[in-house]
Amino acid sequence: VSSAVIMKGTQDETEQEQAALSQAEVQKQSIQEVRRSLPVFPYREDLLLAIQQHQILVIEGETGSGKTTQIPQFLMESGYNDGGMKIGCTQPRRVAAMSVAARVAQEVGVKLGNEVGYSIRFEDCTSERTVLKYMTDGIGLCLKVVVVIIDEAHERTLHTDILFGLIKDIARFRPDLKVLVASATLDTERFSCFFDDAPVFRIPGRRFPVDIFYTKAPEADYLEACVVSVLQIHVTQPPGDCLVFLTGQEEIETCCELLQERCRRLGSKISELLVLPIYANLPSDMQAKIFSPTPPGSRKVVVATNIAETSLTIDGIIYVIDPGFCKQKSYNARTGMESLIVTPCSRASANQRAGRAGRVAAGKCFRLYTAWAFKHEMEESTVPEIQRTNLGNVVLLLKSLGINDLIHFDFMDPPPHETLVLLGRRMAELPVDPMLSKMILASEQYKCSEEVLTIAAMLSVNNSIFYRPKDKVVHADNARQNFVVPGGDHMVLLNVYTQWLESGYSTQWCYENFIQFRSMKRARDVREQLEGLMDRIEVEVCSSGGDIVPIRKAVTAGYFYHTARLSKGGYKTVKHQQTVYVHPNSSLFEEQPRWLIYHELVFTTKEFMRQVIEIDSSWLLEVAPHYYKNKELEDSSSKKMPRKQGKAKEELG
Ligand code: ADP
Ligand code: MG
Repeated sequence: VSSAVIMKGTQDETEQEQAALSQAEVQKQSIQEVRRSLPVFPYREDLLLAIQQHQILVIEGETGSGKTTQIPQFLMESGYNDGGMKIGCTQPRRVAAMSVAARVAQEVGVKLGNEVGYSIRFEDCTSERTVLKYMTDGIGLCLKVVVVIIDEAHERTLHTDILFGLIKDIARFRPDLKVLVASATLDTERFSCFFDDAPVFRIPGRRFPVDIFYTKAPEADYLEACVVSVLQIHVTQPPGDCLVFLTGQEEIETCCELLQERCRRLGSKISELLVLPIYANLPSDMQAKIFSPTPPGSRKVVVATNIAETSLTIDGIIYVIDPGFCKQKSYNARTGMESLIVTPCSRASANQRAGRAGRVAAGKCFRLYTAWAFKHEMEESTVPEIQRTNLGNVVLLLKSLGINDLIHFDFMDPPPHETLVLLGRRMAELPVDPMLSKMILASEQYKCSEEVLTIAAMLSVNNSIFYRPKDKVVHADNARQNFVVPGGDHMVLLNVYTQWLESGYSTQWCYENFIQFRSMKRARDVREQLEGLMDRIEVEVCSSGGDIVPIRKAVTAGYFYHTARLSKGGYKTVKHQQTVYVHPNSSLFEEQPRWLIYHELVFTTKEFMRQVIEIDSSWLLEVAPHYYKNKELEDSSSKKMPRKQGKAKEELG
């Protein structure tokens, strides 16, 4: 009897509990339902088995099938991260890395940045606890990574392509490392081929038919055509959200404004239209909005860059508007400048875009170009970035990774051979590290090789220039102070060398100025050698004639990885967000400019930057547009922070 009562009681409690299920739990349940509904879900076990059996696996699946969000979770659930191991998933786009990490953290039920996090340039949202990391810069992969997923492989960005070559090599001597190459349904045979015929795991997609419409004549103004098309769809077509592809922030903002304005004018004559932008620099709370469900009776229109082509999947899209353009990086070998230009997208892109309309039901794609243009004017597929980029940076990147044999580097699509050979040869001829050699080569462009050669030579005998005997510390420091010139330590070194040269390379001069003669002699030797090499690689040696801007730009061109920006209490390196300090011996110790390039980091009592030069952050965009984006350098003002008090020599340890 009693047991029945107890059972009854328990049941009641269960009912009550269920009634009181917190919203979070309901949400969790529905998240699990959504997870189970994704195309990849039925293949979970097969996929895990294939991963277990093969070191390298290519995974092909329709966009939105769950590759990016689900596969890392499968790996975590089956214990790949046991023993403190980590799973890394590389993403070509910052927004995708952030948004996907946020989604997965939510699905796993953890706070973003704890077990699941992301790391993009200027922003590291991970912690000691992080097991799964979405990142834009896979090249810094750590040893503890047990599975690396090269995601969006079909995008063929420069980083992805270099990663292919590196990972292929690493996988050879790390048999425990699993490599997953995830791609939309494009070109997967090529990936398989590159990775020595790695098997391809195909996740069958669920695709509904998409009707494609073309314009009869080319559109003069595609932005206006987009606005008109959206409104036409909104007024004449059954419910379903709409996705518009534009090329960048400015266009997207204009389009959104136009749409909002016209909707306002139409007032209650039309139902509600929610206009949502998405592009790389959109604040993350705004980014999240595109995923919130559309309230009944209204329609959502997402105006996106090609980030929505394959990286992000927005559920509920039935209509796609495709003007047929995208922004592409292109490189002008003659001027040495990289630029982003609006160009027609490829047929492969156009087909991916159209595919976005058919995920949940039969859809429609409106192409704002003619069928003839699609056939005859568009390229079959997008040219990989490596073939339209400033190769100096590819060479630099590889060399900074210790890869000197550029010609035999395992590129999937090698960059133009001649350019690579020429650049590689020029850089290889210089017996200095890659950054220094890049700086020297850049000095040709900035017409200041005379000065830069001296700086390079002085940097290479680093830290043994100034003589500071214990019994004459005050005199030595005064002498050193007398060499200080604006710009930073590199300029000081240049000044020392120039004065020494003017003294006729005098020993006496060195003695009087507390300069080490032997170091100077060595700098002179190095300089002579470098100058001889410049001749050999046909770089003209000329002087900037006292202008210090080109000199500092050339330094920036070589050392752009070594940028630090002023932040509370010290500096932060932009590469690793590491807190660092200006060395007390530096000529910029008290000045504390906002942006610095450092020659090296040394650790004594703190992490100190030794040999720093003040730069203008806009130069970073000029010398390394592939590495820096405008937004990231936003607070670029020449204003200086309040001066720090007192030199802390004792900190030197
Ligand atoms: P794939 O990588 O195969 O293209 P994803 O794993 O990105 O697929 O997407 C799987 C599902 O997760 C899609 O239905 C997508 O809408 C959803 N999703 C992805 N990111 C988010 C997000 N930030 N918020 C809500 N849903 C998301
Ligand atoms: Mg994906």
